[in-house]
Amino acid sequence: MKCGNCQAVCPLYKETKAEGTVARGKVKLTEAVLENKLPYSHKLAKIFEMCLQCKACAAICPCGVEPDKIVLAARAKLVQERGLPTVKKMIFKVLSNPGLFKTGLAVGARTQGLFFKQREDGQSTRVPISGIVLRRVIPKLAVPSFLGRVPENNTFPGATKTIAFFSGCTTNFAYPGVGSALIEVMKRNNINVIVPKAQHCCGLPVLMHGDVETATQMAKSSVDIFSKYDVDAIITVCGTCGESFRVHYPELLQNDPEYYAKAKALSEKTYDFAQYLVDVVGLDPAKLGPVDATVTYHVPCHIGRSMKAKDQQLNIINSIPGVKYHPMRDPDRCCGGAGSFSLTHYDLSYDILKHKLDDIAFTDADYVITGCGSCRMQLNDGIAQEKMTQKVMHTVELLAQSYQNAK
Ligand code: SF4
Ligand code: SF4
Ligand code: SF4
Repeated sequence: MKCGNCQAVCPLYKETKAEGTVARGKVKLTEAVLENKLPYSHKLAKIFEMCLQCKACAAICPCGVEPDKIVLAARAKLVQERGLPTVKKMIFKVLSNPGLFKTGLAVGARTQGLFFKQREDGQSTRVPISGIVLRRVIPKLAVPSFLGRVPENNTFPGATKTIAFFSGCTTNFAYPGVGSALIEVMKRNNINVIVPKAQHCCGLPVLMHGDVETATQMAKSSVDIFSKYDVDAIITVCGTCGESFRVHYPELLQNDPEYYAKAKALSEKTYDFAQYLVDVVGLDPAKLGPVDATVTYHVPCHIGRSMKAKDQQLNIINSIPGVKYHPMRDPDRCCGGAGSFSLTHYDLSYDILKHKLDDIAFTDADYVITGCGSCRMQLNDGIAQEKMTQKVMHTVELLAQSYQNAK
């Protein structure tokens, strides 16, 4: 079937109007790649870079086609045929080595003042650094990181449940306040929080670039680390991190019965924090204090279409007394961040973001609430570039604020 529905929703097609960027075009090209009818070429690799993995196409396809997964299969095949470019190989080596990654970011955090101009809302590079354009505003690296500032065991008197928290890189290195807010929120719900200190990047950036072998090693390591804990749930505060545990780990480990069983067990108890609070624990509105704020909400693609936690995040926002929720037009539209896409294709990513910024401006909200660190980085940059005044906040931070304001 070639209905073309995906064309109407693909954020990249809307900007480029190129058939190669829309799901239908990529599905056709992937068939040719997988059947060895199209040999590797630089041009082909570039075409398959053009996907944000936003899943808008999969959500609208009447035939249940998942073009995002098909694109990943093509990227993997191209890497299998040609290997990775040297720069990517080096980056993924660091990402897959937790010690090296943490040390590199710790050194970066302590020396960032030398290379980046400091601003109230973040920092921008003084010299061209690969992937970071001069005007881009990025968050300051946290010193110390979230994992460096909290104990592994956070136990509370009267607790009835225990969860293990996968913080993810953005919370760990850029927005440690999100992790602290998660612990506070769980404490208010009588839930102990284990923060495994050995945790590391989930491996999704590596998988997205087609390096299945390294992604599988990282999945095994995460599964080993989190299987050690006898907990009621694995909680994430980023849709993409959640998707790794819930979807990608069992898929990557499906041919290894021992690891598959462990990955499946973790997958079945992985929740976005909002899902866990609303669907499993039950949010008690009597415990919430007032927050005087006019907010709008941006739905991260992987919170909405993969974790399916959008309604629960909105439930939390709408339960807080004093919060005035002004929905934006098309809240599910991708912000264009898409992990490293905003580094490798900054101008195109910004064109996509611009629509989101216009929608935000139209609401009169003072705060943009969202449930993902990558979206927050992207939105913060756009807000800084356009000299807008809105503050971006994670849903869990808004909720923690409400608990703190309770009498
Ligand atoms: S996942 Fe998003 S960016 Fe990729 S083809 Fe589908 S709609 Fe387009
Ligand atoms: S991928 Fe799905 S939505 Fe896109 S043209 Fe094919 S059938 Fe239609
Ligand atoms: S999804 Fe992104 S933020 Fe989460 S752990 Fe993986 S790389 Fe880090």
